[in-house]
Amino acid sequence: MKKWTLIIDVAKCHDCNNCFLACKDEFYENDFPPFSLAQPRHGQRWMDILIKERGQYPKVDVSYLPKPCMHCDDAPCIKAANDGAVYKREDGIVIIDPVKAKGHKDLVKSCPYGAIWWNEEKNVPQKCTLCVHLLEEGWKEPRCVQACPTGALKVLYMEDTELEQIVKEEGLEVYHPEFQAKPRVYYKNLYRFTKCFIAGSVAFQDTDECAEGAKVTLYQDSKQIAETVTDNYGDFKFDDLEDNAHYEVEVAYSGYEEKSLTVELKESMNVGTIFL
Ligand code: SF4
Ligand code: SF4
Repeated sequence: MKKWTLIIDVAKCHDCNNCFLACKDEFYENDFPPFSLAQPRHGQRWMDILIKERGQYPKVDVSYLPKPCMHCDDAPCIKAANDGAVYKREDGIVIIDPVKAKGHKDLVKSCPYGAIWWNEEKNVPQKCTLCVHLLEEGWKEPRCVQACPTGALKVLYMEDTELEQIVKEEGLEVYHPEFQAKPRVYYKNLYRFTKCFIAGSVAFQDTDECAEGAKVTLYQDSKQIAETVTDNYGDFKFDDLEDNAHYEVEVAYSGYEEKSLTVELKESMNVGTIFL
């Protein structure tokens, strides 16, 4: 049985919100029974974009994480509904039945991803349906995917065995695996949102010039875990690092004494300029 899956590349999202607007355009004032009632004009973001800033000036970056309903295979919302008001279709899509779920405000809290919204006027919980009404008409992708100008969103329709292979080959991850909900939304470059970096610069004390080509090695628990070479500004960056850990940064350049420093990484860090 083929199922739908959404793949989101964090590195390609620029927070333009086209996906959010396409979703709003599709669902505002439009009922799509039996899958959804119209979305209100304000207050709901079925496709939400989370923002993460990392580092300290001038070594900073910003990443955006588009977050729809994850269409979980082990969905807490389905368990919480307990009466078929939320159900999973054979094609993987999770639907909140707008008739059965009427009055079930408690369902909003059941989603660990915060993907369910409450419609005060219609007295129903609501969320992304992956534009199931369009997919049933033969559309190949939901409105958000169609509207994304950077290719950050991609939808797949395939057997789970095929999907597992793609997940492995492309190093895809799920957001908050600790929720154990088995999301059907996978992320590429998720580390830009969930992990940390250590960045800095290397310069020569004697000439006050940038040290291009210095070898920078990263150790964790005395074990080398990465190595890089400074660019023409003397800059280096190690990314995809776990926080709450100790690291050692070692800098070497032929003709100069080696320098090293210990970093206790609580959040992404600019270690400043290391002079040789
Ligand atoms: S993300 Fe939330 S609303 Fe969507 S299926 Fe999972 S638990 Fe349910
Ligand atoms: S349309 Fe694409 S690039 Fe724009 S916010 Fe949505 S996912 Fe990001």
